[in-house]
Amino acid sequence: MESPRRSGPRTPLQAPLRSPPRPADTAPSRPGRVAAPAPCRGSPRPPGLPGPGRMLNVPPGAFPAPSSQQRVAAGGRAKVPLKPGRSLMDWIRLTKSGKDLTGLKGRLIEVTEDELAKHNKKEDCWICIRGLVYNVTPYMEYHPGGEDELMKAAGTDGTDLFDQVHRWVNYESMLKECLVGRMAFKPIAAPRGMVSEKNIPGTSARDLTPSYDWFQTDGLITIVVYTKQKDMNAELVIVDCQDKRLRGEIILADHSYLIELDLDHAVQEGFDVNIAEKVGKVEIVLKKKDNVHWKVLGRPLESHNTFIKRTDRGLFYRKCKLVSKTEVTHDTKLFCLMLPKSTHLQVPTGQHVYLKQVIAGTEVVKPYTPILPSLTLDFKQPSCHDGAHIYLMIKIYSCGLFTQALDRLQIGDYISVSSPEGNFKKSQVQTSEDLFLLAAGTGFTPMVKLLNFALTEVSCLRKVKLIFFNKKEDDILWRNQLEELALKDKRFEVQFVLSEPTKDWGGKQGKISLSLLSECVKRSRKDSKVLICICGPTPFTEQGVECLRDLGYSQEEMHAFTA
Ligand code: FAD
Ligand code: NAP
Repeated sequence: MESPRRSGPRTPLQAPLRSPPRPADTAPSRPGRVAAPAPCRGSPRPPGLPGPGRMLNVPPGAFPAPSSQQRVAAGGRAKVPLKPGRSLMDWIRLTKSGKDLTGLKGRLIEVTEDELAKHNKKEDCWICIRGLVYNVTPYMEYHPGGEDELMKAAGTDGTDLFDQVHRWVNYESMLKECLVGRMAFKPIAAPRGMVSEKNIPGTSARDLTPSYDWFQTDGLITIVVYTKQKDMNAELVIVDCQDKRLRGEIILADHSYLIELDLDHAVQEGFDVNIAEKVGKVEIVLKKKDNVHWKVLGRPLESHNTFIKRTDRGLFYRKCKLVSKTEVTHDTKLFCLMLPKSTHLQVPTGQHVYLKQVIAGTEVVKPYTPILPSLTLDFKQPSCHDGAHIYLMIKIYSCGLFTQALDRLQIGDYISVSSPEGNFKKSQVQTSEDLFLLAAGTGFTPMVKLLNFALTEVSCLRKVKLIFFNKKEDDILWRNQLEELALKDKRFEVQFVLSEPTKDWGGKQGKISLSLLSECVKRSRKDSKVLICICGPTPFTEQGVECLRDLGYSQEEMHAFTA
């Protein structure tokens, strides 16, 4: 037996002030909003229905979320049809053309606040983001949110506005040819950063801030994080160890605690994560590569020992290997990605990850929702929950920038995958008696884990019904599995609705509407507790939410999946 012997500092290392997130942490724009040069299958309809103002307070998390890719026209953020030749791909081409986009012939300058303020017109527009100043004039016509949206930050520090709208967009990569220089003075917006006591209502931040300690045996290094919160679980702990760099993130409600170190010595691949759920203690157990005594745990990196809002933490990516790619339908594939051995990450039900690829020299990021390898497996089998694989069901659009690049990946290739995000809480289901899932197309993806969770772990559920909207019969994802599941579990019912059926289709047809929902969504008892989850193209989701509201369902009874 190895006897533990305490070494190194007993108190956490000094936390350095947080500097801006790494440039590689976030990436470019939402090409889903870019007008495709040629018509292509699956094009979203122009945003029409319903009125934006009415959509803002559903559900409690606000739908669509202020930072959502799916917000069509709300809070002053309109989806603007771009002129032909102004897609993301066109912008990437322009940035590679060698054209002087800053007007400074490649010089970088120091910009004062007064100077920044002078460049506040459409034809001469500079914006500061996290201390760096960009001349966004040439980008105006390419901005998916429209020129007016960009003009809101003209001549000022746009950091807060940018973070509110699209924190995951990699502006550094997108706008690198527009870089004018640095601000000569500190930018006006406060840096994303350390938690302050006033950020946490009712409690002192010091009371809530986790702390850590470490000890070693001959062969092991154990890092112990005291989260000071009950009900910890494996989904709340994300650990990556590459070479000697250790990053351990603990999610505590809407905050994130981070251990980030350059370890003193090398460790072996793989580690254990032990969680004492009730006391909120998390142990990361590393195996030493060499049997040496460590004097210190390691050198703290920029965000080490910080406890900040999750949304203020830059997205962290690790490279995952594509291990299989199988057809689901004529245009949709199931991608299986393998996490590195030294990563501990479990994507919670209802959350998505971001994939990042470099396309034509620019980093492009898109969200995808991990699913299970199958619906009809015995979910108690360890193979489905081995934690080493992420399954993604992805529709390949014939003129999709990202999905075409994804489809070109070969088995064995690597792709960057972020840590999970999303605001769905399992507790919403845990108390429900009736669960309705309204899915359109790949909007089915969040429903997969949700269905599994509901049918295997929620004992009070009496009825689970999936209403699945597609264009044609051959677009229906996992139809056989869904029908098989409905036969296996009497609580589960599936109803397919087609918007472009052939004349042989005997099932329901049409689009999401008040009459269709009033017929298909009914409480099993007059006062049963209901949850209705909805996911699909933004206008579908918005229309669904509006119809449900008209049918008398409350905000608390609905959850809309968005970015
Ligand atoms: P783009 O280059 O952006 O668009 C090219 C063309 O493709 C468009 O003109 C249009 O015809 C079509 N198109 C693009 N995006 C959409 C869209 N959103 N709706 C309808 N038509 C579109 N997709 C999946 O396949 N599986 C998932 O699990 C998944 N999860 C998501 C989770 C979240 C939170 C969000 C917001 C979106 C999710 N998506 C998912 C959509 C995904 O992020 C991309 O929008 C999609 O893959 C298209 O990217 P692209 O670059 O290939 O297409
Ligand atoms: P699709 O095949 O184009 O459409 C699926 C069904 O939705 C069809 O019946 C279609 O009917 C209907 N529909 C499409 N647009 C509509 C609209 N404006 N109003 C009412 N009904 C509409 O869908 P898809 O290409 O798979 O797209 C799936 C969408 O889900 C994407 O937008 C993706 O971003 C989104 N998604 C979001 C999340 C998330 O937020 N968490 C996760 C996964 C996917 P019509 O014949 O009338 O078009």
